[in-house]
Amino acid sequence: MIVSVTQPRHNVATGRRGPWGKKTGFVDVGVDHLHQSRQCSLREAAEFEGVGLHTGEDARVVVIPAPANAGIVFRRKDLERDDGQPFRTVISAAPENVVRSDHGTTIANGFGVCVSTVEHVMAALAIARIDNAVIDVYGPEVPILDGSAAPFLAGLQAAGIRSQNARRVEYVVREAFSIKDGDREILFEPAEHFSLHVEIDFEDCLIGRQRRSISLSDASEIAKLASARTFCRLHEVDALRRAGLIQGGSLENSLVVDGERLLNGAGLRDPNEFVLHKALDLIGDLYLIGMPLRGAVKAVRPGHDVNCRAALTLTRQFCPSASAAAASV
Ligand SMILES: [Zn+2]
Repeated sequence: MIVSVTQPRHNVATGRRGPWGKKTGFVDVGVDHLHQSRQCSLREAAEFEGVGLHTGEDARVVVIPAPANAGIVFRRKDLERDDGQPFRTVISAAPENVVRSDHGTTIANGFGVCVSTVEHVMAALAIARIDNAVIDVYGPEVPILDGSAAPFLAGLQAAGIRSQNARRVEYVVREAFSIKDGDREILFEPAEHFSLHVEIDFEDCLIGRQRRSISLSDASEIAKLASARTFCRLHEVDALRRAGLIQGGSLENSLVVDGERLLNGAGLRDPNEFVLHKALDLIGDLYLIGMPLRGAVKAVRPGHDVNCRAALTLTRQFCPSASAAAASV
C-alpha cells in the first residue's frame, strides 16, 4: 500500500565516518536514547502530488524505504531511459550537490540532472528522523503542497517509520564556529542536544522582527514548525515571476505580505509563522549533511544561500583532505 497525499488541484499559481576533526566529530547516540540509536526508514512508500512552486508544472514524488546507510537519495524517474546508465538520474542529497540556492534549494548530479525545492521534504525527513529513503521525483521539482512541511510530515508518519539494524551517527559540534554572509550569520555551538534559535528582521513591513527558539523534543513545537508556510512580499512577486521562479505560486501555497497587510484571507497559522518557516528551511538545508546535528544553532536572517554554505562547511570539516587544505592556508 502507498500512503498518498495530494495537493488540492485548485492550486495554480551515513554514517560517514572520518577522523575526528579539530572542531567536530561523530558519536553514536548513547544507549540512554535507545529509541533514537538506530537508523530509520519508512515502513511503506508515501506519495505526494501537487504543483511545483517555481515551474508551475504538475509535480509528484514518492518517498520509498531504503536500506540502512543508503542516506537520502533523489531519483528523476521522468528522465529514466534504458541507456545502460542507471545512475544518470540519481542525485544524492548532499551540500556539495547544491547548484542553486535562491528562493529554494536545487541539487544536481554530475550529469547535470537536477531537482528543485528539496528543502521542505528534507525538513520533514529530518523532523521524522528518517535516515534512509529514496525520493522518486516525476518532474523537475518537488511539489510545494501548502507551502509548508506539514503534509510531507503527515504522509511520512502515516506510512510508518521503522528502525533498522544499523547505528545512527550524529554530527557533534565540538567548538563554536560561524558562517557569515553579509548581515546573515549561522552560529554553531556545542550543546547536549540539538536546538535552534532564529531571528529575522523585516522591519519595514508586517513581518517585523521575529525571534524564536525551537526544540525538536516538543510535539506542539514540531507541529507549529512543520506547518509554517513559505512567504514572499508582493513587490517581489513580479520580479520572481519574470525570473521564472514562482510560476506555481498562489495564496494557496504561500503567504504574501504587502506592507502591513497579509493578502491571505485566512490569516497566519501562528503569530511567528514567518520566523518558523525560516527555521524549517534551515533544518531542511542542514539535513543535506546526511545526519542529525548535536549542537546549538543560532541563525540571524537565514536564507538558502547561507544555509547551504553552512551545510557545506559542516561537511568539509569531516573531510580529511578539505581540512588539511584549509589548515595549510
Ligand atoms: Zn521554505
